[in-house]
Amino acid sequence: MKFTESRGNDGERPAEVPFSAALMSPSASFGGIYCPAALPPLPPDFLAAHLDSSYKRLAQALLEHLGLDIDAAILRAALDRYDRFDDREDPVPVIRLDDRLFVAELYHGPTRAFKDIALQPFGTILSALAKRDDRQFLILTATSGDTGPAALETFRDAPNIRVVCLYPAGGTSDVQRLQMVTEAAPNLKVLGIDGNFDDAQTALKSLLASASFNARLRDLDIALSAANSVNFGRIAFQIVYQFHAYLALVRQREIEIGRPVALHIPSGNFGNALGAYYARALGLPVARIVIASNANNVLTEWIETGRYDMSKRQLIATASPAMDILKSSNVERVLFDLYGAARTRELMTLLDTQGWYQLEDAELARLQAVFAAVCCSDDEALAQIRAAWARGYLLDPHTATCLKACRGEPWKAEVNIVHSTAEWTKFAPVVERAIHGAETRDDRAALRAIADAAGIGIPAAIANLFDRPVAHPEIVAPGDIEARILDFLGA
Ligand SMILES: *Cc1c(COP(=O)(O)O)cnc(C)c1O
Repeated sequence: MKFTESRGNDGERPAEVPFSAALMSPSASFGGIYCPAALPPLPPDFLAAHLDSSYKRLAQALLEHLGLDIDAAILRAALDRYDRFDDREDPVPVIRLDDRLFVAELYHGPTRAFKDIALQPFGTILSALAKRDDRQFLILTATSGDTGPAALETFRDAPNIRVVCLYPAGGTSDVQRLQMVTEAAPNLKVLGIDGNFDDAQTALKSLLASASFNARLRDLDIALSAANSVNFGRIAFQIVYQFHAYLALVRQREIEIGRPVALHIPSGNFGNALGAYYARALGLPVARIVIASNANNVLTEWIETGRYDMSKRQLIATASPAMDILKSSNVERVLFDLYGAARTRELMTLLDTQGWYQLEDAELARLQAVFAAVCCSDDEALAQIRAAWARGYLLDPHTATCLKACRGEPWKAEVNIVHSTAEWTKFAPVVERAIHGAETRDDRAALRAIADAAGIGIPAAIANLFDRPVAHPEIVAPGDIEARILDFLGA
């Protein structure tokens, strides 16, 4: 599979690149990103043939089908990262909540959020390619709280890779912050940013595009890459679990092959949803992909009205901070796939200059053939956490944003798969507020209270965080980031 540029080609870069190139240098002409030039449909018997495949075997078959230019040995080593998940035989358990409602638990990796599923193998591949080519890479990542820990964890002590992780100071939970600032390794640097996640992401994008910064890096012989979900190296692995969850329902005799399901996805930067979009394009029977948002419901408005509008919005801090995003990066790949490069460039230019665009009616109809949308307030999400708790299931606040839709029209008549993107342990104060009404507890107290009430333990990876020394205390203004990074690189 070849990759092409979402906003067309500037005549200087290659118009098409292989997967490895899109993964190592993710920025494309005119500020665009790389997208699959075409998606080869799977053979009709693919699902039946993989009914009994392990997660790793399924992943290997799908990625081979996509024709990614990664050595078989490197791909195998990347997929072996799933052996570090809670159950190596079943890294993504699919749980039945009721007749028509199933939860794909995507958070059983080392940092307890679904980012591990893509970043664990991605880290192995990027480091292996860097070593093979004898190149040094700097990975810049901006995080709203879950990408950072997962990126640091996958690249800790990785050969030929250095990582700088930017997070919004005060914009993450204690657990998320500690997962980052206690991650000590000589190749890792964590910086708190005075600002919100959009500020961190904007700072990252302007550094990636900065000619002077790139020139300094060239002097140092360091190449720049990104581990954010715009990197297709992550998206590739997010296609796999869409198939896995479907096949799990077939194995559990809940559905027969061919029955369309609704996928419910708590969305921010739209990487998870894009994985679902590609899975559907490859042939997975999906009736609709239902995009759940919190009060920052720019995606709800986009899918319901065709208007993508950030111009009149301020980012709102919610109980589901990983979804507190207004500029959702992977939407661009949907635009490209549905409307082509010229129109994508036009729409993204409008978004960059005036803060909004409006799709035409015919364009909106094509979008709505694939996606539906729901937005869920914090109060509604907390009510869902409380209701699930009453039935013995712990939900995190991101996953909770999906539940309202599953139980309402028209989805209650469908077979629904909810993507659970985080373990409750990452957002314990919110869960504690939902189930006990307690307001002011810190993460540690909330973890203990919930674990005691549920009669379970706090996973060691979370419990140990509070005793680890802080290795990265710094908080900086966006304007100082470049200088701090050059310091870290020894420039
Ligand atoms: C990253 C994240 C999301 C949003 O996923 P996208 O792929 O960016 O849409 C949702 N929930 C949690 C817990 C996350 O960490």
